[in-house]
Amino acid sequence: MGPDKALLYIVATPIGNLADMVPRAVEVLQSADLVAAEDTRHSQRLFSHFNIDTPLAAYHDHSDGQRTEWLLGQLESGKTIALISDAGTPLISDPGYRLVRLARERGIQVVPIPGACAFVAALSAAGLPSDRFTFEGFLPAKAQARETALQKLAGEERTMVFYEAPHRVADTLSAMAGVFGGEREAVIAREISKAFETIHLAPLAELSVWVRDDPNQQRGEIVLLVRGAEPQKLSELDPESCRVMQILLGELPPKRAAAVAAEITGVNKKALYNWSLELK
Ligand code: SAM
Repeated sequence: MGPDKALLYIVATPIGNLADMVPRAVEVLQSADLVAAEDTRHSQRLFSHFNIDTPLAAYHDHSDGQRTEWLLGQLESGKTIALISDAGTPLISDPGYRLVRLARERGIQVVPIPGACAFVAALSAAGLPSDRFTFEGFLPAKAQARETALQKLAGEERTMVFYEAPHRVADTLSAMAGVFGGEREAVIAREISKAFETIHLAPLAELSVWVRDDPNQQRGEIVLLVRGAEPQKLSELDPESCRVMQILLGELPPKRAAAVAAEITGVNKKALYNWSLELK
């Protein structure tokens, strides 16, 4: 039985170990009128385990507008819908954004049921700074695009968190060692909450060889974490970056000059901006 008011629950489900399912998630899935799932056959296993027999409907971000409209119509008629993905928290590298966005625009209450999320679990156990971090999701699959994406992160000072597919992890770690330097600390967090859970911290050059040499490390589900760059001090700015900044400062305000120079040189935007302040 659902409440009178339209309600869309966003329900996290386990990322491996079914014992990580939170009781409130089970209650919500059991009592909802409908559960929208990324892959209904996959979710059927979760449903059997927890004795849930709520009707399932497929929903993914490339679902056509009609499917989204149908779900919104159900909500507007007073039905309670719960959204789940194959594993973890919906919308985190998973479908749901379009539905949540439109639901909120139409005044439908959206309620999160917190639970497992692979990158949060990985970050909590990695041993890298966790006070500030950036979640980058999946890098592009093609080598050139991946290289470009990594170059843009070269000056990033926060811990960087990535999702990666097992067949790409060895190449990605080599590419990371190339861009960030082999000395930079990184962590592979694999198969979290499952039988072969592995969390291993090492400098990128070492980690990359460790993973390449052991096919077992190229299996299962993987989160990669990379320590952020050391903050750059004024005296450490290389002469080429100083030259680029000096030219740009002749044409642009300091903030804009730093942003453009960061694109050109790969140096951290804040370091370039601070340098321009110290120039005055
Ligand atoms: N929504 C999910 C979440 O909350 O983490 C992520 C979905 S995304 C499609 C799937 C990716 O998450 C996997 O390719 C892997 O990078 C990561 N992942 C999921 N489960 C994991 C696990 N048990 N251990 C390590 N990484 C995992």
